[in-house]
Amino acid sequence: MALKDIIGQENAIKILQGCIAKNRIPHALFFAGDEGIGKRLTAINFAKTLNCKNTEHRTQNTDNNNLPLGFEALRSEDSLGSGLCALGSDVIDSCDQCPSCTKIDKGNHPDVFVIGPEGDGGQIKVSVIRELEEALSYKPFEGTYKIAVIDNAEKMNQEASNAFLSTLEAPPSQSILVLISSRPDMLLGTIRSRCQRINFTPLPIDAMTNLLQENFKKLNHEQTLLISTLSGGRAGYALNEELITQRDMSFNILKLMLNRFEEELRDDSVSMEELFDWAQLWLRDMSVYKATGRADLLINRDLESDIKAIACDATLKDILKLARELYNIKINLNFNLNEKLTLNYTSLLMRKRLGKPEQINARRQ
Ligand SMILES: [Zn+2]
Repeated sequence: MALKDIIGQENAIKILQGCIAKNRIPHALFFAGDEGIGKRLTAINFAKTLNCKNTEHRTQNTDNNNLPLGFEALRSEDSLGSGLCALGSDVIDSCDQCPSCTKIDKGNHPDVFVIGPEGDGGQIKVSVIRELEEALSYKPFEGTYKIAVIDNAEKMNQEASNAFLSTLEAPPSQSILVLISSRPDMLLGTIRSRCQRINFTPLPIDAMTNLLQENFKKLNHEQTLLISTLSGGRAGYALNEELITQRDMSFNILKLMLNRFEEELRDDSVSMEELFDWAQLWLRDMSVYKATGRADLLINRDLESDIKAIACDATLKDILKLARELYNIKINLNFNLNEKLTLNYTSLLMRKRLGKPEQINARRQ
């Protein structure tokens, strides 16, 4: 694939293409936006375009290159959305076929590095950042640029963040750093302020519905609408054929947590973050039903009877309170919480707010 094949991020891509066309590529970019929205895919295809053997790095609209006095300041703004790179952007893309493009796709290009959290703690450690710095200190072997993509950049621990900050302050020549995060607020402000930010936004529901109809001909109207809504405008989620299965599994775990907690309730197919995201959707539907009594306003309309059954004994106030409590727990997942203790505590909170286990058992029989 190439940049032109990425769905729903036309603005972000236009900005990047504009930067390449004008040969004004910031040494550090920060892609911010929800999980599953196309940030990593765009970063990889941006790297392909930068190092492609068949890409013409053209500079057009030369009038814009002679900047009037004061115009330069625009380029140092935090967001590129209104910056100069977006002006007069040229359609520029990778060929997706040359040896460089193929190597980047396979993850074995000597000048392109993709790092992310690893190990039990799910953190980006300082040793990884130091290795990256070392790799970036050499001139490119094959490509025009050395490109480092730091996925889930907010997972850099304190030591790694400080080390990375020094790289940002004195970036190696011919290197481009692309930070990716769905939690921009978790990154050090001093890191954010040294990067040019590009925002990735969700697709509107109509566009998502069209996309699904094009890609999944077998889906009927109701299924298309359900997946469009569940995906929250994130194409990566919507095009995942397992989305509804993942929802059902997560809801099932949550229902079981209302009754009891056992360690084996959760397997690796649903991450803790995903489980807490699905919990919010579940509670959203319960609160909407509780407040309005209208099943047609539910996102998970196919699970109407389940949602009604669990919501019936809880108060709206308690449901909203639980939603806030679970949201706070999800934020703290970044701080290495013990998984079993967290699930136990969550299970207790759910039972406290939504009702006693025996009441739910009784309703299910
Ligand atoms: Zn190519």
